[in-house]
Amino acid sequence: MRAAIFQRPGEALAITTLKPPRCQGADLIVQIRGCGICGSDLHMAEVHEASGGMRPLPTGTVMGHEFCGEVVEVGKGAENRFRTGDRVTALPFIGCGTCQSCLSGAGHRCARVNYCGLGDLPGAYAEYMRVGAAEALPLPAGVDWFRGALVEPLAVALHAVHIARLSPGARVLVLGAGPIGLAVALWCRYFGAQHIVVCDKVAARLALAEKIGATATIDATRSNVIECFKRETGARPDVVLECIGIPGAQQLAMDYCPAGGRVVVVGVCMALDTILPVKAISKELQINYVFMYRRQDFEITIDLMDRGRIDPSPLLTRTVSFTDLPAAFETLKTDKTACKVILDPTLV
Ligand SMILES: [Zn+2]
Ligand SMILES: [Zn+2]
Repeated sequence: MRAAIFQRPGEALAITTLKPPRCQGADLIVQIRGCGICGSDLHMAEVHEASGGMRPLPTGTVMGHEFCGEVVEVGKGAENRFRTGDRVTALPFIGCGTCQSCLSGAGHRCARVNYCGLGDLPGAYAEYMRVGAAEALPLPAGVDWFRGALVEPLAVALHAVHIARLSPGARVLVLGAGPIGLAVALWCRYFGAQHIVVCDKVAARLALAEKIGATATIDATRSNVIECFKRETGARPDVVLECIGIPGAQQLAMDYCPAGGRVVVVGVCMALDTILPVKAISKELQINYVFMYRRQDFEITIDLMDRGRIDPSPLLTRTVSFTDLPAAFETLKTDKTACKVILDPTLV
């Protein structure tokens, strides 16, 4: 089968031929029909040496953890739940399937978990992928392949907005209008925030924010963020969601948050960072970190997309074939105007 493999930091992905995966128990083989390029893939592909929480990816890694596709083989023990031809997405890991974490939908906490696409198991920049039956979810007819590939990033954002505990009519400031910041804005709208102000430095991204649900946007290169926020909403934010994930972003969120407010750190900063704790202490800020999602976040996202209750289409920039994937991947490392680029391995 064709697959895109990571070679070395700073080098483009290579398209190569690999042996297709085989079922190893109660799992599924899925023919991939869509896989989003994630910011963390771009980031991991640039890690040269172990530092902070990161190690360089091994040469030959098949990345890709935001995927959907068609079941082409069903392993022993999964026959009662899946058949060939089923359309599915899956949480991008394989857990034991029987422990309390796995059964409660938090399989990423399983002691025996193996992640797909960023280390342990091959991901979905490939024609076929092995997927855990316990982690797979059927896609209804209303969720096409491109929406299926967006379930994972939407689930990240849904979990973050759940942790943000928005009150009806809340004033929300979203820092960063990358795919996750945009998906966060979508969910804030869905859950009844009155003001959703998205702040970024890239005009094209701010335009997407307005399409997906922001009530106002702030170009941080031109405006004073808090003055602008107060002008738009009449007060300071109740909640600041930090969706940037680089050093300095958490401090910025604490600075923008008023006394008694809540900061939710969604961006995954993998480098050392510095904060001035007294700023958060003196304001008695509530600071929440979030990590991944639960299976239920996937289920709700799929159901609401199927019913047409959420519209993630502004997130899609373009779909690419295998031939175009390495160049598209390189471009995304620097092009901050693009949003989701999705590999469709069936395109020629
Ligand atoms: Zn991702
Ligand atoms: Zn488990």
